[in-house]
Amino acid sequence: MRYFLITFSLVTMLLWQMPFANAATPVTVQLRWLHQFQFAGYYQAVEQGYFAEAGLDVTLLEGGPDALEPTDKLLRGDIDFAITASGVVMRRLEGKPVVAVAALMQTSPLVWITLKESNITTPQDLVGKRLMMMPPPESAELVTILRKEGLPVDTVQLVPNTYRLDDLIDGKVDAYDGYISNEPYVLNQRGVDYNLINPRDYGVNFYSDVLVTTEDLANSDPELVSAMKEAVERGWDYAFKNVDSTIDLIQANYAPQKSRGHLRYEAEKIRQLVMPELVQLGHMNPGRWQMIAESYQDLNMTRGNASLDGFIFTPPERADYSYIIYSLIGALILLAIVMFIMCRFIYLSRLLTEEIAQRREAEKELQEANKALQTLSITDPLTNLYNRRGFTELVNKAMSRAARERTELAILALDLDHFKKINDEHGHLVGDHVLVRFAELLTTVARPYDTVARVGGEEFSILIERVDIDTATKIAKRIRKDTEALQIMHPDVDEPIRMTVSIGLTLNTTSVIDIWRGADEALYQAKNSGRNRVVVI
Ligand code: GH3
Ligand code: MG
Ligand code: MG
Repeated sequence: MRYFLITFSLVTMLLWQMPFANAATPVTVQLRWLHQFQFAGYYQAVEQGYFAEAGLDVTLLEGGPDALEPTDKLLRGDIDFAITASGVVMRRLEGKPVVAVAALMQTSPLVWITLKESNITTPQDLVGKRLMMMPPPESAELVTILRKEGLPVDTVQLVPNTYRLDDLIDGKVDAYDGYISNEPYVLNQRGVDYNLINPRDYGVNFYSDVLVTTEDLANSDPELVSAMKEAVERGWDYAFKNVDSTIDLIQANYAPQKSRGHLRYEAEKIRQLVMPELVQLGHMNPGRWQMIAESYQDLNMTRGNASLDGFIFTPPERADYSYIIYSLIGALILLAIVMFIMCRFIYLSRLLTEEIAQRREAEKELQEANKALQTLSITDPLTNLYNRRGFTELVNKAMSRAARERTELAILALDLDHFKKINDEHGHLVGDHVLVRFAELLTTVARPYDTVARVGGEEFSILIERVDIDTATKIAKRIRKDTEALQIMHPDVDEPIRMTVSIGLTLNTTSVIDIWRGADEALYQAKNSGRNRVVVI
């Protein structure tokens, strides 16, 4: 039991200590753009402690117009993770060691935005126009619709993005690459009418806001990458379920300049792109990535044709220690219960054994007491001979036996002569002494299997079984003679005390009453004919 308790405490302590065993690993994540709802899941993963629980100390680096394209930064080794667009697959085709960990948006938010008054509403309308866009791969999919529609891309004037929406409003460019979740809100606020050319309407439907890392990290520490992926997905789940508090968090810690209305608009649009109710957060389909890659290749946007094997991060098969630990705990609890029951059982059975032993002892004592009582009830206390009751029982049994065996039995009735005188002369105590000595004489003369009894004050009886009249008479005479010769000494009496006895003898095999009566009658005759003699009837 003691070893069991020690083991149990050790395991409990180990389990307790486990989550705190490792210090958090520092990790940097390059966001794709300025702080806004677009990265809400990351903020909540920090806020709710999901990164910390995963053993990660995450730093979120804000993106923006001046920031280097996130994938480049990643490949340079400046950061551990980046959030980027689906165009990242082209890097992989070109043999760059980049790995996609999770795709947040199942549909890209990138759209061409034009002014309403320009009447540019289709990809065809973009031909020959000035288009402001981020460098590939960031806005690559916006170019794909031109190519897909078979439009001459070289007629288009691509203007590097100034990230100033005013350039569109002021007519410096004809189209602007924007986020469906962002710029339309600003234009609405400013009362500017606009058109959206959405790639989705032209069969271009790519992933966006893809969390990527290097192949190096994915291979060397897949647990870390996996933990990162899980924490980000948990963060997004929390953000979508708690939009209001997430907006509060963004305003307080990340983008104080953004209005609640703007963030709410963005949240709603991003929810439509992420489709958290329909698609598992972060989900990526290898077939769809292949299709995206082929689209870029078909449209001659990349010459790369390296394999996509290993592009999608596969979380390592995690040895599920929790199962083992829970099984261990379960087994220990079970063991504890079994041991408790066993101890209880042993304790109870010991109690029971003790109780049984006590009862046996009590029973034995009772039996002995009963036996003693029984003996007492048929014994004469003074002489230790049978009393009248014991003698009667034995005679009854002997009579049945004699009848069965067709043998004879004799009864001797003995009465001390003038015994009253001994009492009168020497006192009762001396009388008792004489009775005891006479009893001894009777047991000495009688054979071991004869029954001697004191049936009254100075009256005795002897039962002799399987006997004939001669032998019985001989025994009676010998008793008479020995009694006459007996000299009893007592310290209170100077002279030896002497006495005689009268004996009636009868032999009978028919009935108890007759044999008693016969012996009594014989004794009576012995007394009447002068005492100190034997009379046989
Ligand atoms: P008998 O020859 O006619 O038998 O004369 P007896 O005196 O022996 O007969 P009796 O029946 O007159 O007296 C019997 C006496 O035995 C009376 C009593 O004092 C005495 N006795 C009876 N029981 C006891 C006893 O337990 N102890 C003593 N010490 N004496 C007893
Ligand atoms: Mg008498
Ligand atoms: Mg007498």
